[in-house]
Amino acid sequence: MIQFQYTRATEARMALDAISKDQSSMFIAGGTNLVDLMKRGIVTPERIVDISRLPLNKISYEGKVLKIGSLALNSTVAENKLVQHKHPLLAQALNAGASAQIRNMATVGGNILQRTRCHYFYDTSLPCNKREPGTGCGALEGFNRMHAIFGFSDKCIAVHPSDMSVALLALDATVLVEGSKGQRRIPFGDFHRLPGDKPEIDTNLLPGELILGVEVPDNGFAKNSHYLKVRDRASYAFALVSVAAALQIEKKVIKDARIALGGVAHKPWRLAEAERSLIGKPVSEASFQQAALLAMQGAKGFKHNEFKLKLAPNSIVQALKVASRMV
Ligand code: SF4
Repeated sequence: MIQFQYTRATEARMALDAISKDQSSMFIAGGTNLVDLMKRGIVTPERIVDISRLPLNKISYEGKVLKIGSLALNSTVAENKLVQHKHPLLAQALNAGASAQIRNMATVGGNILQRTRCHYFYDTSLPCNKREPGTGCGALEGFNRMHAIFGFSDKCIAVHPSDMSVALLALDATVLVEGSKGQRRIPFGDFHRLPGDKPEIDTNLLPGELILGVEVPDNGFAKNSHYLKVRDRASYAFALVSVAAALQIEKKVIKDARIALGGVAHKPWRLAEAERSLIGKPVSEASFQQAALLAMQGAKGFKHNEFKLKLAPNSIVQALKVASRMV
């Protein structure tokens, strides 16, 4: 039994004050990942600060920006008419994640903060630099079928598990956070980290910072977007590869493009060069194949996940075809 103190916060300042009392404090909202981590002894906070009652669950559209409070439930966001109308890509990604029961508990803030599902990370009898820095990476020479093909290091080859984060990256979202020095906005592409020498740190949040919400600009991708998730079974499974694809098309010519991948790196993986290659090109299989080729530059597989080197480009082409309504 792990002993911990429990504090329920009713306003953001109270939560920030409570979390600052000791370094091992952690926020909890839906608890769909944290409780698992605590049950397995992977994290052992001495204080849990319950933020689930904070007034941070609003979804609104202000000045052409969709604003989603960090405590909005995944299911509520996915079913919201504004989200479905303005950003169907986000709704699709949310509905591709987890099970209906988990979506009814999990919050937006918790979704983007969820930790890797690498099985070595969850098995405390095995080495894992992310769980226990300096012990080694069991997956590097072990069973690495689910692991990264981009942006990994010799310390960690894990992937980020969130579907919603892949869509938020493609949609140029921003994360609004508050800490002891006030509020700041983090572009979504800078929110998560690559593992480098410190795989134990997943994000660029500062200690004690609280996520207030995410903001998604209205960037005109509602008409032509698609979230494709390839996984071992049809539900309740993490992505082998996922693609968030969004296009602006005029008279069958691509005016703008956004592509991000999930299941391939320690963070959602944006494909900026492939996006640029599509601008001004006709909507065609050849355009999409060329973008997929560019997307895979620098990719490297490990013993059990080399199949991702083919699966990823094929998935990119398919997602773009569906987004552009070629199929
Ligand atoms: Fe741990 Fe990362 Fe290696 Fe998995 S890939 S065992 S999370 S260090």
